[in-house]
Amino acid sequence: VTTVEAAGSTFRPLGFSSVALPPAARELQAEVRAFLAAEQPRDAIGTRVDWYQPSPEFSRKVGARGWIGITWPKEYGGGGRSMLERYVVTEELIAAGAPVAAHWVADRQSGPVLLRYGSEAQRRRFLPGITAGEIYFSIGMSEPDVGSDLASVRTAARKVDGGWVVSGRKTWASRAHVSQFMIALCRTEAAGDRHDGLSQLIVALDSPGIEILPIRYMTGEHYWNDVVFTDVFVPDDMVIGNPGDGWRQVTSELTYERSGPDRFLSVLPLFVALIDKVGTRPDERAAASLGSIYAQLWTLRRLSMSVAAELDRGGSPRTEAALVKDLANCFEGLVVDASRDLVPPSARESGDTFDRLLDDGLLSRPAFTLRGGTSEILRTLVAHGLTSR
Ligand SMILES: Cc1cc2nc3c(=O)[nH]c(=O)nc-3n(C[C@H](O)[C@H](O)[C@H](O)COP(=O)(O)OP(=O)(O)OC[C@H]3O[C@@H](n4cnc5c(N)ncnc54)[C@H](O)[C@@H]3O)c2cc1C
Repeated sequence: VTTVEAAGSTFRPLGFSSVALPPAARELQAEVRAFLAAEQPRDAIGTRVDWYQPSPEFSRKVGARGWIGITWPKEYGGGGRSMLERYVVTEELIAAGAPVAAHWVADRQSGPVLLRYGSEAQRRRFLPGITAGEIYFSIGMSEPDVGSDLASVRTAARKVDGGWVVSGRKTWASRAHVSQFMIALCRTEAAGDRHDGLSQLIVALDSPGIEILPIRYMTGEHYWNDVVFTDVFVPDDMVIGNPGDGWRQVTSELTYERSGPDRFLSVLPLFVALIDKVGTRPDERAAASLGSIYAQLWTLRRLSMSVAAELDRGGSPRTEAALVKDLANCFEGLVVDASRDLVPPSARESGDTFDRLLDDGLLSRPAFTLRGGTSEILRTLVAHGLTSR
């Protein structure tokens, strides 16, 4: 690692590298494209901004292809392939606007957490069902009044004979109403350092004492929930790793959550519709705007692939992942703004593809810079990463 001096401070350069897709990844890319072309008429592919649409049927088909848990060891139902190959599958599915939401969280982060920190019994119990596209997980980190400052979670797990009794409330729990399990970050011990005494528990969402309350999105749709726990019993064997290890697990999980192409390709269907709408003879302003978006898209892609390659090498590129997410969130907003700017209301045709996608984008826009960590938090992480040794 080299260092650079600037304005009297020492900065650590970020670890991005140039990555080319290996031939196996290119072949896989073609396979996924052919699959999506065949599925297009049946599933609602490419009709929405964002990857929020769940379709258990589609998830099972993706699972049958071996594309969920594609990097996990074969003994757990995984594909034993590289992060770059996973990158290619993710990119194609999200770019097409495929309805991947049912299995998304389990594939992207819950499975990797179980692989890295879970017990052998937990891996055998959950991973094959995830890879088949049949077991879904929800993220239970945020709470009312606790989002950015995760170490302040108040949901508590109290030790009892044979397990833990959980009480508290999680908010914004992704698709908890259609998932079988949640990984919930709980305080299991009062600790001097707030980052100690936290644990992650796998909670079966049909357990007695759980109430799942919908949070309606601005589109009126139901993707998120408050989940209330009243004395919910969780057996000892559902604690991930050792009690007290939760903070380390959560921070590494966020690297998987933050760096993938789902963070910037959410708006690709809208960008494609915008290009169609502007047509083959854009004026100078439109051409400059579309060109700039395209250049940014390409740059983000390279950064995101570089994070995938670093994960393949066993690295922990937290700072890079935070930077990719922040840039990606700016990009998502830019595509929505440009669409509104380049196509004035008088040029919109009510109900056509562009019109529907733009409406969707406008309503999703506020969430871009919140979900998975806000811009301020990401930039703080980047600043720490740049200045720590
Ligand atoms: C669409 C969507 C989906 C989500 N899905 C999930 C999910 O599945 N599971 C889950 O657990 N959570 C989920 N979240 C929650 C999300 O992670 C939190 O909303 C986010 O972390 C912000 O937390 P908060 O809402 O409590 O805001 P706050 O933390 O209260 O932040 C409010 C504002 O203050 C700023 N701020 C806070 N602290 C600092 C600081 N130290 N320095 C500078 N500025 C600061 C923030 O940047 C923000 O602008 C989701 C959120 C959204 C919008």
